[in-house]
Amino acid sequence: MPELPEVETICRGLTLLCVGARVLDVHIHRAGFIQGSKKHIDLLTNLTIARVHRHGKQFALESVCGRALLFHMGMSGSLTVHPFQSTRAKHVHVHWTLMKGNKKFELHHKDPRRFGYVQPFFSIQEIRNDIWSTLGLDALCITADDLLQKFKNKKRSIKASLLDQACVAGVGNIYADETLFQSGIHPLRNAGSISLPELEKMIKRLRIILNRSIQGGGSSIQDHQDACGRAGTFQNCHQVYGRGGEPCEICGSILKQTLCVQRTTVFCSACQPRNK
Ligand SMILES: [Zn+2]
Repeated sequence: MPELPEVETICRGLTLLCVGARVLDVHIHRAGFIQGSKKHIDLLTNLTIARVHRHGKQFALESVCGRALLFHMGMSGSLTVHPFQSTRAKHVHVHWTLMKGNKKFELHHKDPRRFGYVQPFFSIQEIRNDIWSTLGLDALCITADDLLQKFKNKKRSIKASLLDQACVAGVGNIYADETLFQSGIHPLRNAGSISLPELEKMIKRLRIILNRSIQGGGSSIQDHQDACGRAGTFQNCHQVYGRGGEPCEICGSILKQTLCVQRTTVFCSACQPRNK
């Protein structure tokens, strides 16, 4: 699933390519892909795209008149720009024809696994109130003090807490494992047992990892591509994710693999001791 860096990569591309473009036409190829109670509003036809907003793993296109479209990329979603009248790939469920200057082009929303969707809203404020208010603070903004409050008296593990979008928005399996490794925190440690200095270190590492990944275009494990269709490169920098059974880059111990909230979790038991 695209996590914060992958979604931010898509947003940056859309800002560059689509802000200032007018939507000439929308083609819906699978009706079920449009969700929510406002399906009667069209998907920005005749409106000009003014801004791209992101919160955690979700983002929205806002038009000049204020109307907005929320995008959820599901497990395998992509939103890519193509020349006008390009051949549509399999699994493109919606495509928009846009015009910027005198150039027509298309925006294709592809989602082979069909967990994603598009949801129209009357305003970005409505998205903030209805959808994003149920999420935690964005992972690039949250502080150690915020997490200390959220983890107080919590019995679940730090890994489960980081994956919970209501706790912190934007972190998934890749960046949770990488952050905990670089912070020396065992993924199954109780979140409530982690001290403020440890959380401060963890948040610092989290931000560095997310920003490095954004600079590298995100991690392309399966399908991730930016708005121009380019794959990311940060998968080459993963120190633990997907490396269970391989040696730790720091101490040489064999990395362990376990399950936490049904997600494969990789860690180094020497660098991330459990009994702290
Ligand atoms: Zn190690």
